[in-house]
Amino acid sequence: MLRWSIATVSMGGTLEAKLAAVARAGFRAVEIFENDLTFFSGKPRDVRARAEDLGLEIIGLQPMRDFEGMPEPLRSRNFDRAERKFDLMEELGTRFLGMCSSTSEDAAPDVERAAADLADLADRAAQRGFRLGYEALAWGRYVKDWMQAYELVCLADRPNLGVVLDSFHICVNKNPLAPLADIPASRIGLVQLSDAPGILMDPMSLSRHHRCFPGQGDHPVAEFLDAVMKTGYNGPVSLEAFNDQFRGAPAAQIARDGMRALQIAGETLDRTRVEQGLPALHIGADLPSASRIRGIEFVEFASASSGPDSFVDLLQGLGFVRVARHRSKDVDLYRQNGLNIVVNREQEGFAYSFQLLHGTSMCALGLRFDNPEAALERANALGAPTYFGRIGPGEALIPAVAGIENSLIYFMGERDGPRSNWDRDFVFETQEANGLLTTFDHFSNVLRRSEFLSWMTFYKSVLGLVNDPQVEVADPYGAFYSRVIRSPDGSVRIPLNIADGGSTAVSRFIDAFGGSGVQHIALETGDLFTFVEQAVARGVKFLDIPDNYYDDLSSRFDIEPALLARMRALDILYDRNKTGEFFQIYTATFENRFFFEVVERRGYDLFGAANTPVRLAAQVAEQERAGM
Ligand code: MG
Ligand code: MG
Repeated sequence: MLRWSIATVSMGGTLEAKLAAVARAGFRAVEIFENDLTFFSGKPRDVRARAEDLGLEIIGLQPMRDFEGMPEPLRSRNFDRAERKFDLMEELGTRFLGMCSSTSEDAAPDVERAAADLADLADRAAQRGFRLGYEALAWGRYVKDWMQAYELVCLADRPNLGVVLDSFHICVNKNPLAPLADIPASRIGLVQLSDAPGILMDPMSLSRHHRCFPGQGDHPVAEFLDAVMKTGYNGPVSLEAFNDQFRGAPAAQIARDGMRALQIAGETLDRTRVEQGLPALHIGADLPSASRIRGIEFVEFASASSGPDSFVDLLQGLGFVRVARHRSKDVDLYRQNGLNIVVNREQEGFAYSFQLLHGTSMCALGLRFDNPEAALERANALGAPTYFGRIGPGEALIPAVAGIENSLIYFMGERDGPRSNWDRDFVFETQEANGLLTTFDHFSNVLRRSEFLSWMTFYKSVLGLVNDPQVEVADPYGAFYSRVIRSPDGSVRIPLNIADGGSTAVSRFIDAFGGSGVQHIALETGDLFTFVEQAVARGVKFLDIPDNYYDDLSSRFDIEPALLARMRALDILYDRNKTGEFFQIYTATFENRFFFEVVERRGYDLFGAANTPVRLAAQVAEQERAGM
């Protein structure tokens, strides 16, 4: 039967914790990596009992390494080693052993010999009712590609011996994918899935430290799965990711991310198959259909202050107008054109708790969906439960799911729908809120490195966002990585930023914020220069950009001197690409934690990553001036 599985090596922690996490994430099948047994305090049969209690089938044991093509006495010793693995399989109650191609210098470059060894071992396994799978390691001594592994399996020609098709080894060696479809299903022992970032690194290091789940990297995993499933293969499809960050994270989180990644992979596979006139396979349960994001209804800030409020001063300086107050709560609505910012100063409830943990900060995001009920159902099916209760600006009852650092993402309908009247408990003082800011351009999330892939999978699966390629820039104190994800309509765009290095800007933000979070909100205007002049007149302080930046800019781009002088005077940053020009400015950092960015786009669709180093350096200088 086709089913999802996960290898225990993909997670950290004890074997018991891994099995519990795997079952809780909805898996019914698991592959046991032998190292996990070595560190397990009980007997292998205890693992079997535990798995049975949890409703998990152990689909296989792995790996058997460096087996084929060895000279005597190593050859005989290998057969003895295999018998011990068979005993272990008996105790575990599994019928399948995963073998990988030899990396040993003692192995002979002799295809016939290697095939004969595999055939002999398959015959021994058959006596005990076991099956073998043979996998090409990308760095194997002689067998590196699936075509070679398949050739050996065909030469050995045993009914209980199949090839293991592992997407990592196949994609990292850029093996052809389409011909996989021609392998007879009976010759496939197991299918394994993982992804990896498209970075240049030797395949073994990439494999051992940086494998990730489908959709988190750059490998053509969907194409691989589509080709393999055309064979008619009908067994388990198992996630196998070796990743240092995964092993350092809670097993429950990784197992849930793995299941989310597989659910999306299964949905993508079936969509592709239906387009090709093939039947859908429904591996695992079908997801409720996706609903589209239509825009941002509001952003909510939890504010610490009940008296004079420098955050509100900043909002007003940026041209936001308080248009309404809540009937009974200490909650205000600030507006500018279609942009709504709710400021929640209640001394109890969700926003208050959030503020206690993080200080004045963005605690919620209200998203409009074309079908919020369907969107929520899908989020639930992807392991993101609904939060009801006393939440919502002024505690209107709006269903939500937990976003980054337990901030909330509200699922709302179009403005005239029944769920969108969140502002009906507000008493409006004015409807006049015109200014130069027109759109929420993007929200940056700064993340601990260990959370990066997890949130990427959350946004891509639960909210249906898609990702751009990864960007790397220099931070004054380390490296900084950024990956932008966006809704298909472009209304929600989130650069996910992570940093390596103890005192990078991102690390310092995480320290100041007490966790990951939204570090800046970028707002769009059609006229940045006029906007900045007005905001300065209203008392807004912008980030001081060093003069050298403008000297460098004039050497990189041909810019009219008068325009350059104006940018220099106002601290406006600039970028240009094939499609257009970009102007951006940052406010001074609010409470060492948060800032606004304002952008003007003239046909430019990126985020000014070339300016990030100067922004980070300017923020460090700002902190040093403030004596932090
Ligand atoms: Mg593998
Ligand atoms: Mg930005």
